[in-house]
Amino acid sequence: MISLTSDLREEFLAAAAPGRVRFDEPMRLHTTFHIGGPAQIWVEPADAQELRQLLQIAQGAALSVTLVSGGANLLVRDEGIPGLVIHLGAPGFQGVDRTDDGAVRAGAGLPLEWLIRRAKEDGLSGLEFLAGVPGRLGGAVRMNAGTHDDEGNNHSISDVIRSVTVMELDGQIRTIPREEIGFGYRTSDLPGRIVLESELLLTPDAPERIAQRVKRLWEFKRKTQDWTAPSVGCIFKNPPAHSAGRLIDQAGLKGFRIGGAAISSIHANFMMNVRQARAADVFGLIEEARSRVRRISGVELELEVQVAPV
Ligand SMILES: Cc1cc2nc3c(=O)[nH]c(=O)nc-3n(C[C@H](O)[C@H](O)[C@H](O)COP(=O)(O)OP(=O)(O)OC[C@H]3O[C@@H](n4cnc5c(N)ncnc54)[C@H](O)[C@@H]3O)c2cc1C
Repeated sequence: MISLTSDLREEFLAAAAPGRVRFDEPMRLHTTFHIGGPAQIWVEPADAQELRQLLQIAQGAALSVTLVSGGANLLVRDEGIPGLVIHLGAPGFQGVDRTDDGAVRAGAGLPLEWLIRRAKEDGLSGLEFLAGVPGRLGGAVRMNAGTHDDEGNNHSISDVIRSVTVMELDGQIRTIPREEIGFGYRTSDLPGRIVLESELLLTPDAPERIAQRVKRLWEFKRKTQDWTAPSVGCIFKNPPAHSAGRLIDQAGLKGFRIGGAAISSIHANFMMNVRQARAADVFGLIEEARSRVRRISGVELELEVQVAPV
């Protein structure tokens, strides 16, 4: 980790409004897992201009850059994250409006729950499947968040994306059409770019019908997922033609515990922070699940959760 001189600290502090730059910020406060060591420099820029300035300082000092939105898919190591950790939660990244041809333009900092509610109020359908997916739009776009519904249909956010506007690490802003983004199953080729906003193509529908669908999906989520303790949702991707949860269950690991972390006894692809877990406890569970599933089923499990630093 590069140590910060007092001049560099002052440079960061001067580049943003008071309170928007913090040092050694505990990441457990910013992840749904409530796990993680400190972020060396935690910044919450007010707008794109401030973001660009902070990036310039980071680049000049050869610091690494990590993005955190809702922290709902992040496992932060106990050692913490060196360099600049950027959170786009300020109102400057939470705009929402309509383009001339009716698309919804939404800021990366908008919480998904808020966006779903707003779309419903405006009589716009297409985001209901995200009900019960925690996090913000920037993280959801980067992860291509999605789910299968109670009828077994798969949806992901890229289905409704028309374009994504990003800032490159050199501060340049560009808008990328959906076809050029390389969306896949819980992935995109957006790492190394900062999602600022996205244009979404939604379809008109009656708010009551949208509300019913949201309610049904929420109930489905509540029934099938484990919400009894902090988690990051599914730890592993589903391997082709398999369910990661079923494979871990077949390996006899439901309820298996290391330190303060446990494999959920409700949904075996969820790992829960049952008692002040450390990231090391979760990595222990990940290794155990991988090796037992490999031995019993011959399947290699791939992480869905993002580990920071990589
Ligand atoms: C109880 C529970 C249930 C869940 N259920 C689902 C589910 O059904 N389906 C599903 O897909 N996910 C699910 N998740 C995981 C999580 O909600 C999604 O992955 C969500 O999209 C993460 O969004 P976030 O804002 O929290 O992203 P974060 O966790 O903050 O970040 C995720 C990744 O995106 C990067 N990132 C964040 N913001 C930006 C940005 N502005 N620009 C570029 N990169 C960025 C981060 O560096 C990181 O690599 C669940 C999580 C929980 C806790």
